[in-house]
Amino acid sequence: MALKDKVALVTGAASGIGEQCARKLAADGATVVVADLNLPSATKVAEDIVRSGGRAVALSMDVTNEEAVNAGIADTVSRFGGIDVLVSNAGIQIVNRIEDYSFSDWKKMMAIHLDGAFLTTKAAVKHMYASGKGGAVIYMGSVHSHEASQLKSAYVTAKHGLLGLARVVAKEGGPHGVRANVVCPGFVRTPLVDKQIPEQAKVLGISEAEVVKNVMLKDTVDGEFTSLADVANTVAFLAGFESNALTGQSVVVSHGWFMQ
Ligand code: NAD
Repeated sequence: MALKDKVALVTGAASGIGEQCARKLAADGATVVVADLNLPSATKVAEDIVRSGGRAVALSMDVTNEEAVNAGIADTVSRFGGIDVLVSNAGIQIVNRIEDYSFSDWKKMMAIHLDGAFLTTKAAVKHMYASGKGGAVIYMGSVHSHEASQLKSAYVTAKHGLLGLARVVAKEGGPHGVRANVVCPGFVRTPLVDKQIPEQAKVLGISEAEVVKNVMLKDTVDGEFTSLADVANTVAFLAGFESNALTGQSVVVSHGWFMQ
């Protein structure tokens, strides 16, 4: 119950990594706001957490929409008395070679990954500062916050950008006890990854098995996917680490794919 009495909002929490983070933070005692574009799925996750004895509510939020983000965070604060943890996790993947990457896809990627991180941070830190208790801001980066892969111009650019944002939030938030860090997973089997295996196979002209073995897991120490639990446990650790000693960092969880 390391997070007892804490209020955590997780974006993109209706599926995959965000869902597992919401479940883990609730299991550690936090009241969790399961925020997502997909309200029916977010509601199922929140109801499931409640059935297992945790505290959670679902919230419809498009992280690219300033009004929706501000309203969702204001609603969280008025309902639960504050916000202690923000996990900015919502994300998508669009793969293509740069010469074929449409400008509209590029803008969509920047909007979800970077505008979403900026808008949720801006709305949440105000309350963290005002409470006098500080808080934890955790961004879902990627090994692609440090490494590049072909076909992922927008994703790699956006995930690198999160490192810069986290470092600024760490500096500005430090005097208020607000810590900002980036969790950087390797490949995790979620709908986001399952969708891109056939897409990459098509663009690269190789089989789906080759995409997994020779593209996704090639540089890991053991040929293994990173698990949802590996990522959620790291997020929970950062959420509960209540000192500025650990801020402005990125924690890579990738079976050794990237070593810093
Ligand atoms: P996922 O597709 O399983 O879940 C993403 C969730 O984000 C979905 O529920 C979706 O509805 C939600 N979402 C999308 N656009 C949104 C918006 N505008 N506003 C609010 N919610 C929105 O994907 P995932 O694999 O769990 O990815 C979650 C995060 O982890 C992403 O930021 C992704 O880049 C990052 N990540 C994933 C992997 C991986 O291998 N799966 C690796 C590294 C980083």
